[in-house]
Amino acid sequence: MIQRTSNEFELIAKHFMRPAANAVLGVGDDCALVDVTNGMDLAVSTDSMVSGTHFFPDVDPENLGHKALAVNLSDMAAMGAQPYWVLLALTLPKVDDAWLAAFSKGFFDLAEEFEVSLIGGDTTRGPLALTVTIMGEVPAGAALRRSGAKAGNDIWVSGTIGDAALAVAHRHSRVQLDEADYREAVMRLYEPTPRVRLGQALRGMATAAIDISDGLLGDLGHICRLSGVGATVELGAIPVSSIGAKHVGTPDGLTAIVAGGDDYELCFTAPANSRESIAELTDMLGVKLTRIGQVKRGKGVSLLGAGGKPVKIDAGGFDHFRDA
Ligand code: ADP
Ligand code: MG
Repeated sequence: MIQRTSNEFELIAKHFMRPAANAVLGVGDDCALVDVTNGMDLAVSTDSMVSGTHFFPDVDPENLGHKALAVNLSDMAAMGAQPYWVLLALTLPKVDDAWLAAFSKGFFDLAEEFEVSLIGGDTTRGPLALTVTIMGEVPAGAALRRSGAKAGNDIWVSGTIGDAALAVAHRHSRVQLDEADYREAVMRLYEPTPRVRLGQALRGMATAAIDISDGLLGDLGHICRLSGVGATVELGAIPVSSIGAKHVGTPDGLTAIVAGGDDYELCFTAPANSRESIAELTDMLGVKLTRIGQVKRGKGVSLLGAGGKPVKIDAGGFDHFRDA
């Protein structure tokens, strides 16, 4: 806390104090208290979002509230964990009641859907930024790590890839989406669906998993690096939406789709003998799952086009410190 104003307490009470069903003690004291289940590992993750870097300054606050929580739920999904508790650190340029009401609506609507409780946070004044910390549980030893991929494993992704990044590319005038397509794609950017149930269903089946926040090829690259393997991805196998299908043939569209990020779909690896069980998950969970490539010995991720010819992309995953 930098600057304590009398309305800070009102602000918290009005917008962020809700019953915390999962906690022993929620918002209001010096710490929250939670009861951790025996035999479970506590899964903890935090993600920050800064205006101008992670979202356009004119973002609808309700979408932002959704997204701030969604990206954290997505980390739980990628680990195969069950999320329970969240903390919210907010930095606000000013107290704007209408903005806060919309933001907290977006946040709590999603929190209710996933039955997670906001148990604490911090509120400070400054340039708009927010940090969400999420905690959950996963049976001891069963978390889906990035480091377990083996040569010969299949590579899978959930949903379709690229719409969120196409919306960003459109805003930066790198790709031209028509109006209806932009409206649809930008909702994938602002209201991603965290694949929490899928992540849990993949425990014991996937050898490694990651959520696609920085771009399919870059994030798969993290799995490869940590697993000490390489990968090939078939461009023609990557699942795209009808919007993506219109742009995958252009260099900028292709770059957005394979390297753009912000989809929050899961990318995971699994042995070939799991193909049937994974296909069953599609029906069980209503999430499309597509096999896009193979884990190989060696290192690096290659993208293969028609006839198995390598395709060059001039961007890796998003790296905040690339120019530093
Ligand atoms: P402290 O000075 O002990 O850090 P604060 O005045 O910052 O206490 O916060 C008071 C209570 O309100 C604490 O329980 C804290 O977790 C909670 N809190 C503060 N900001 C938020 C927020 N944005 N969302 C949820 N809880 C918050
Ligand atoms: Mg504080």
